[in-house]
Amino acid sequence: MQFRNLIAAAVISSLASVASAALKDGSYQAQVIGHNAPMTVKVTIEHGKIAAISTKDLESFGVGKTALQVKSEEIIKRQSIGIDAMSGATLSSFALIQGVEECLKAAGATEADIEKWSKQTVKHPVTPLTVTGDVAIIGGGGTGLAAAVSALENGAGKVVIIEKLGYLGGSTNVSGGALNAVDDKRQKTQGITDSIETFYNATMKGGHNVGDPALVRYLTENAYPTVEWMEKQGVVFRDKIGAATGSLGQRSHYGVKPAGNAYTSVFEHVLKTKYKDRVEFLMECPAEAILTDASGKVTGVKALRHGQPITVKAQSVVLATGGFGANVKFRQEVNTGVWKEVVLDKSIGTTNINKAAQGDGLVMAKKIGAQLIGLSDIQLHPNGTPGTGLMQDIATSGRNRIFVNLEGNRFVNEGAARDTLCKAIFKQPKGTYWLVMNKLRYPDINTPDRMGVTMKDMLALGRVKTAATLDELAKVINVPADNLKAAVAEYNKAASHQVEKDKFGFAATNTDDAPMTEGPWYACLKVPTVHHTMGGVKINTKAEVIGTDGKPIQGLFAAGEVTGGIHGANRLGGNAIADVYTFGRQAGASAAKFAK
Ligand SMILES: Cc1cc2nc3c(=O)[nH]c(=O)nc-3n(C[C@H](O)[C@H](O)[C@H](O)COP(=O)(O)OP(=O)(O)OC[C@H]3O[C@@H](n4cnc5c(N)ncnc54)[C@H](O)[C@@H]3O)c2cc1C
Repeated sequence: MQFRNLIAAAVISSLASVASAALKDGSYQAQVIGHNAPMTVKVTIEHGKIAAISTKDLESFGVGKTALQVKSEEIIKRQSIGIDAMSGATLSSFALIQGVEECLKAAGATEADIEKWSKQTVKHPVTPLTVTGDVAIIGGGGTGLAAAVSALENGAGKVVIIEKLGYLGGSTNVSGGALNAVDDKRQKTQGITDSIETFYNATMKGGHNVGDPALVRYLTENAYPTVEWMEKQGVVFRDKIGAATGSLGQRSHYGVKPAGNAYTSVFEHVLKTKYKDRVEFLMECPAEAILTDASGKVTGVKALRHGQPITVKAQSVVLATGGFGANVKFRQEVNTGVWKEVVLDKSIGTTNINKAAQGDGLVMAKKIGAQLIGLSDIQLHPNGTPGTGLMQDIATSGRNRIFVNLEGNRFVNEGAARDTLCKAIFKQPKGTYWLVMNKLRYPDINTPDRMGVTMKDMLALGRVKTAATLDELAKVINVPADNLKAAVAEYNKAASHQVEKDKFGFAATNTDDAPMTEGPWYACLKVPTVHHTMGGVKINTKAEVIGTDGKPIQGLFAAGEVTGGIHGANRLGGNAIADVYTFGRQAGASAAKFAK
């Protein structure tokens, strides 16, 4: 974990400023609790003013880290801690403000100074605003950014992105970034045999055969051209192909940079550089309604920013608002499918960015006659952190890890689909399990994993346990050593090809599979968590939104998690990111053509 030099900017002195007190020049540090982990805030005072702020943190790329960057700049610019938290990253923002406050106190600020500098300095306009563009995009997450680039490439003169959070990228930022595509070039080098037909069949079967065959066909055929399109934008993929949890195949691509932010940061950069004169970003601006004319054709979007009504007039609109996994009330109302026997209340967390994944898009689309399908198809993921449901610490994604219950016994084929894994976990004592792995997955504790976090950082946070041998690990996690050793031995029989399948049905079909023999060993407690909502607005392969009358709604397009039909009743791990970029690209192109 490195100190990132967030700011070394010249101090602007025009505003009501901390310089009014006798702050002692120097560098000060404070320990505060961020969203993901404790963090250190360092403030440098020069000539009695805040000259620089840096943090040593484990906040998420594109989310908390963006808030720290942007809010540090704002504090320095305003010389004030009376600023708004960033929407969608409030905990990180408040942690920063608290850290700076503590540093200012250490530099000599009195309680009266702090009170004065904490007064709100940001004034928001309240007059109504009208913005015009060819294509309006609701939601600046993974899909929205892909649609924007594609719309511009396909001739849209101007694109307006309406985003309710204070940063771009949405939940796609925090995703593992696994993207499934049949990729002869990379897969063959690793000896992986695959085909579009195999990918299509796995997606249909994994989704319990209720996915829309035309959409699944489009996804599986176009996922690799999408990888190439992303590379053209500047995304750099790892050469190594992996297998996301429940991917039912070995075709998951990952960015070289950590997490889904590896993709969103590139698309954001393209929009803010190459297309900077043709894009307008309306941030912290929740859309409230899709506007239509008397014929039902879409004419724009109504939104609200800090009390300011905003009308966006556009020829076409792309709905890219993501899923509803964080909307506890709504997910319970529609939970009549795969998880009907489980109460999806607050006791089950979610992996998603809470404020983003509320299902706003479904409400807006339904109001103008869109067909909603498959809403009961909710996905739980086995990789939740107990208490929050967030995906933290070592991931289930990949191979060479086993699931053992609180008695130290294996209970499921770890290569199974996500619904099978979660159903098996719920049957275990306390509905939880230890994810156990060894040196194979973390040969070096100082090398960041695909999420950008090192094993050393994870061990320091305390949720990951370690030991040199399985006997010692059994003691640390309080399970019978004989059971734990038997669990690993059973897995190793299949992993070393002594048997075709072990007694849980695990077969070493991936080229990555290898026996787990050597310490150090690691274990982390996990629970199922609400992850993905497969249902949503009905679309066709042009990403046109289909109305309740079975016809496309003129001028309305949608893609990403807000749509239904692609993943059936169970999404394969790595298929959502493929969907986001494949259909996001298609929605942008269709919306641009419609706008001409
Ligand atoms: C922790 C985690 C790990 C994951 N890992 C993987 C993985 O490795 N591979 C995979 O395939 N899938 C993965 N997924 C699933 C996948 O990331 C998501 O399905 C996908 O990113 C959704 O993209 P999206 O563009 O539809 O939504 P988002 O990226 O969430 O974007 C939606 C945007 O719309 C905005 N919005 C919502 N309502 C409004 C409104 N009213 N007005 C304006 N803006 C609004 C939101 O704020 C958000 O920015 C993961 C998901 C999570 C949460």
